[in-house]
Formats: sequence, structure tokens, C-alpha cells
Amino acid sequence: MTINHAIVDNFAHRETIHLWETIMGDLRKLLPEHSYQTWFMPIKPVKQNGETLTLSVPNRFYAEWIESNYKELLTRVLENVNPELSSYFFIVEPAPPQELQKEGSIEKTRHITSPAHTEHPPIDERYAHLNHRYTFDTFVEGPHNQFAKAASKAVADALGNTPYNPLLIYGGTGLGKTHLIQSIGNYARQKGGPRNIVYVSSEKFMVDYITALRNNRLSDFTGIYRKADLLLVDDIQFLQNREGTQEQFFHTFNELYQRGKQIVITSDRTPKELQGVEERLVSRFLSGLTVDIQPPNFETRVAILQKKARLEYLEIPDEVIDFIAQNITSNVRELESAMTRIFAYSSLTHLDITVDVAKKVIRDILGVKKSKVISVESIMKTVAAYYRISENDIMGKNRRKEIALARQIIMYLSRDMSGDSLKSIGLRLGRRDHSTVIHACTTIKEKIDQDPSFRSQINALKNQIELQLY
Ligand code: ADP
Ligand code: MG
Repeated sequence: MTINHAIVDNFAHRETIHLWETIMGDLRKLLPEHSYQTWFMPIKPVKQNGETLTLSVPNRFYAEWIESNYKELLTRVLENVNPELSSYFFIVEPAPPQELQKEGSIEKTRHITSPAHTEHPPIDERYAHLNHRYTFDTFVEGPHNQFAKAASKAVADALGNTPYNPLLIYGGTGLGKTHLIQSIGNYARQKGGPRNIVYVSSEKFMVDYITALRNNRLSDFTGIYRKADLLLVDDIQFLQNREGTQEQFFHTFNELYQRGKQIVITSDRTPKELQGVEERLVSRFLSGLTVDIQPPNFETRVAILQKKARLEYLEIPDEVIDFIAQNITSNVRELESAMTRIFAYSSLTHLDITVDVAKKVIRDILGVKKSKVISVESIMKTVAAYYRISENDIMGKNRRKEIALARQIIMYLSRDMSGDSLKSIGLRLGRRDHSTVIHACTTIKEKIDQDPSFRSQINALKNQIELQLY
């Protein structure tokens, strides 16, 4: 890696900008949102010269961090986007005045070890960048997040005056932690409550701390964080194994807590799973209230999509919303992105938004590989996963009702979709007789005709299986 301090040409070539946008799009898909925002959003493309892309970063720390943590990823994405691109280097912007005349020269490795230059850490502007879209009003409630939402609301209503201090929200990626924690900030701000609302990801907390240390401006850092009236720290899991930052956080926490200031934290795992975080810190986290967010159920997924469509004035037919909600099940961010992409696709191609269009887009999102034939095995996999039954049970002799039913569904769908003969289907599902397969097909067919909710399960399964065709 070469870091060079140089004046950055503000007018990067349009192609370079375009190239960088594509790279960023890919990085966003591959990285947790907070890492993407912290490390990659501040980067600007400068120029492309043959196989090398020049990028500007706000300070040396960024360059070093990316180099030690994201080098491989960045290189891989560059090559993916443009096979001719094989390297990149960073320049630091803005340049310190004494080095302006060196503009443009590249091999100045000595700058890597030169002392940190003196740009001021932009700490002051970084606190409390709340996204105005993240409010309690836009947050759809369901059984999976009800408790977390109620607790957040209670905290926002009576900052520091509830037993819920700190409030710790945990849950998997894309399930609404950031949305909730920012809703608390937005709500408090709207009510005109506390003066200093600080929202920060723990990653940014660390960057601020290190930047302040390097520049001998620790008081800037403590001035922001220890004066907070409401401290919202997103993605605390990032502090794992970062002892120095944990120590800072510990002191910040204690000081605010003693002054009765509200602290809210999110994490993508339970406090007990936060390995590499000091015991004393974990026990502080647990001293208030811990709430979790689970993946939304089907009805809530539909409600979230409907709400989003309304908020963004998108017209999407109900059956397409149902289709998305059936197929994207574990992550609200993906759910939203599916809808946006379907909409974009249809506006670009001037096709109506139909289930077929949705299928095509969702295939891309799920990255399903093209395989030409539908096999009995792939049907079994999908059905077993859908009903949470093991494939061994299906192949075996177990006659439990759910297992027997799943087995019959697989036979029915195999008959319908795989092109295999009855005999072969029976053989491949635990050496069963072809008359058993015939019986299964009739049973399932009748059930489909009689029971609309069963019919929609079968349709959902068919869609999932078809998706795997591509
Ligand atoms: P996390 O921080 O848990 O990874 P986010 O809060 O960033 O997840 O949520 C991802 C996206 O999903 C955001 O755009 C958010 O607005 C949306 N979202 C998540 N849960 C809900 C919900 N219950 N209602 C409305 N939108 C939601
Ligand atoms: Mg988040």
C-alpha cells in the first residue's frame, strides 16, 4: 500500500466515479452496514490509471485500517467489477501545505511512517446523525419486536427515569435495531428534550477515540461523549477485543450513568455471547433491561412491505407483496431491497409489476444458481426446510403426522415438477412403492382443493422450488 498526501482533483473522471459507484454497490452487499458506512462511505475516487485505482481517504488511519482489515475484500471486488483493475492506492485529503508541491507522485512509502498530520478530527459534526426516516411511526410492530418497541418507547418518553438504563436491544442483522435505536433519538429530539443526543456506532466511537489519541485531542473526544444527555451506541459487538476502546466506553458509561443520563445499546448477539468484551462491561450492559428482536413472521413481513410501499408511493399488487414476503424470510433489509429492486426493474423495462418479474429479481437477490432440472432431492430439501423436518425423517419410516404429510407433499410436487416416474420418485424417497406415490398425489390434490391455506402453502413451495431453477 502506498499512501500519498496530495491535492485531490475534485473532478474525478465520470467513468471513475461510475466505476467506484459499482464497487461501492458490491461492497455494500458484502459488508455489515456500519462497516460500510464507517470505512467506505468517506472514500472518494480520484482516478483510474491502467490497472490502478486512486482513492482518497480522510486520514491515514482509514487507509491503514482498510489495509489491515479489508484489503482482500476490496481487491477481490475491484477485480470482479473490472478484471483489469488489480491494485489501488490511497491518498490522504486534504494535503498538509508543506507537501503540496509533491502532488501526483506515487511512490512515497515514507509517508506511511511519517507522523500523523494535523487535520482536526471531525468529531463535532459526527454525533447524532439521525436518519429522519427511522421513527416509531414507521416501525411496524409484530410479535417479534413488540417488547423491544415498547421498551424503546418507554425509554424515549422518560429518558433516564426508567429502570431500563441501559436499554440493550439485540437481534440478527437487518431486523430493525438501528431503526429502533434511532427512533429513540428522533423521538427525544422531537419532544425538544435533551440538548446533546449522541448517536454513534461503536465502530465510529472507536475511530473517534483513536483519532483523538493520535492528535492529542482526547478532550475533544470526552467533550462529546461524556457530555451526552442521551447516548445511543449501535452495534456494540464491534468492541469485541478492542480493549482500549472498551476502557474508554466503560468510563463514558459510568460517568453518564451516575449523572442519570440514558444509555441505549444495540448488539447483534446476546450479552453472554459477547466474547472478548470485558466482564465488567457486560455486567453493566445487563444491569438495565435487555430486549430482543426476532425475525418477523409472514403477516408482519407483509405489513412492513405495505407500509414501505405507502411511504414511498410505490404501487405494488398484493400478490407480489405476498410473493416477496413468502420468499424473503429472515431479514427486513433484504425484504425492502427486494421491493425496491422489483420496482426499479419494472420501471426500467416498462414491464408491469407481476409475480414473474418478482421471481426474476428475487432469484438474483438470493443468488440462486442455475440448475436445469428440478430433482426429487431438491424438492425434498425445500419442503423439509419449509416444515423444519429433517431429511432423514422423510426418508425413514417415521409415521408422525407432520412427517407423513411432508413426505406426501414431496411426492406430489415431484410428480408435478420433476419429470421423474412414479417408480423412481418412490425409490428415491426411502424405497417406497409406486402405489404409495399415487396415493400421496390423490390425497394432496384433495387437500389443495378443500383447504385454501394449504393451497397457498403448496404454491409458496412451488415458487421456492422454481426459484432454484436459475
Ligand atoms: P439492523 O440494525 O438490525 O441490522 P435496520 O434497523 O438497519 O436493521 O433495519 C434494516 C431495514 O429494515 C431498515 O431500512 C429498517 O427501516 C427496516 N425495518 C426493520 N424492521 C422494521 C420494522 N419493524 N418496520 C419497518 N421497517 C423495518
Ligand atoms: Mg444496524
